[in-house]
Amino acid sequence: MTRDLVRDDVVLSSRTWVVKVGTSVLASADGTLDLERIHHLAEQICAVAETGRRVALVSSGAVGAGLGRLGLTKRPDNLPELQAAAAVGQSYLIRAYDEGFRRHGRNAAQLLLTHEDFDSRPRYLNMRNTLAALFEYRAVPVINENDTISVDEIKFGDNDRLAAMVANLLQAPLLVILSVAAGLCRTDPGSSGHGDVIPLVKNLDDAALGLAGQSKSALGTGGMRSKLQSARLVTHAGGSVIITSGKADRPLTRILAGESVGTLFLAKGQSQGARKRWIGLTARPKGQLIIDRGARLALETGNRSLLAIGITEILGEFEKGDIVAIRDADGHEFARGLINYSAVESRRIRGLRTDQVLQALGEVPYAEVIHKDNLVVLG
Ligand code: GLU
Repeated sequence: MTRDLVRDDVVLSSRTWVVKVGTSVLASADGTLDLERIHHLAEQICAVAETGRRVALVSSGAVGAGLGRLGLTKRPDNLPELQAAAAVGQSYLIRAYDEGFRRHGRNAAQLLLTHEDFDSRPRYLNMRNTLAALFEYRAVPVINENDTISVDEIKFGDNDRLAAMVANLLQAPLLVILSVAAGLCRTDPGSSGHGDVIPLVKNLDDAALGLAGQSKSALGTGGMRSKLQSARLVTHAGGSVIITSGKADRPLTRILAGESVGTLFLAKGQSQGARKRWIGLTARPKGQLIIDRGARLALETGNRSLLAIGITEILGEFEKGDIVAIRDADGHEFARGLINYSAVESRRIRGLRTDQVLQALGEVPYAEVIHKDNLVVLG
């Protein structure tokens, strides 16, 4: 067994784990679910939980299992049939996990979510409270996208992204993605050769992303590239990510034992607070502000609030309290923030000094359009 100190440090110190499992890991030869694998996973998750850690599971596999249960050999190309398959598969999936967990004295708790649940601050906080209560009850949250009602506008894209958002919600220091790939390889497995797995990526930058190529898994929706993009949401918020094979022998217990399995992507910088994670990395912006160079400099280097005078243009419609993207004159999005004014008000006050804001609106409810405590400069 190979050990390394960086791993030991990440694994031993992480008290909350989010584990994501892909469809291809769970699929059985007959097109339904590999129950033995699910029970092994449940056993490992319970072993991690027995150390006092909080573990949440994000599991795909509903659509795939549903297709198998319905005896469909071909994936339907229309949404209602796919959503029906997801409904059939999800109940089978959660039953399999529940059976697995109950052997070790824990219950499975089903959470089906859409992106809208993460955009809305009250729903987001409710979700966090519910998860906290579930951990108290020693239950294992089993989370999936609410496929039966999800349409493009409210979709996550794929479950790798959902898992990253759950990790940020829980401020989990560790996200483990169990896929069919053994980790990030030196050459794209989709291309000619199989490269060696890279054990450690200190900085998940564009060069690392380039190694992923455009490969896509056969059954699931994501490929290595989408995994890395999701992993970045976590590393930027101050968590670490391990991508490893879910088909290998006991991946979770081996990670817990400090073994160097898969690729570890290290957190970038300090852990960000929960509220800033939500503003900068989770909620989807409703509109956009274009700001001038001076304002950009003040936000980036001065840790300052955004004032009306620095805003040159407002795009889209939003209300007070919504999240907006902040772009520079070249259109580059470099920050996000929770705005104090609606789009209508913002259009009336853009470019104005505070005394002119008073004239334009008849009052100045907020000196700043976005307060620095509600503003996140993106990495
Ligand atoms: N929610 C889908 C399912 O359970 C999977 C989405 C994904 O793998 O990204 O079938």
